[in-house]
Amino acid sequence: MINKISHIGIAVKNLDEAVKFYEKLGLKVESYETVESQKVRVAFIPVGDTRIELLESTDPEGPIAKFIEKKGEGIQHIALAVDDLPASLAEAEKNEILLIDKVPRAGAHGADIAFLHPKSTGGVLLELCKEKH
Ligand code: ZN
Repeated sequence: MINKISHIGIAVKNLDEAVKFYEKLGLKVESYETVESQKVRVAFIPVGDTRIELLESTDPEGPIAKFIEKKGEGIQHIALAVDDLPASLAEAEKNEILLIDKVPRAGAHGADIAFLHPKSTGGVLLELCKEKH
């Protein structure tokens, strides 16, 4: 079951500059994290019950660098929080939704995550996310 929007992932060229902007809006960074497997440095900014996840590439060949190269900075993915990630993936597959990740992998913040393919979602990169509590 999908509960809420876990976070909105935004690709930025410069994390510190992006953080300054959100701070001007009165928001505060909760934590920073580097996810080696995704070649990103991440800042989490809580907004009510959800978060903004700012993503800066740590490598010119990383997925976020490639995204910015193609589309420029901006919203890169939307993450939906689920109760049971393996069950949600099985359900999606049963409904012929293309999966990027057939098995969950480790995301930032200790969460298990899996991406649905934008070909199946009308162009939106959707992440299913089992948040760690
Ligand atoms: Zn995410």
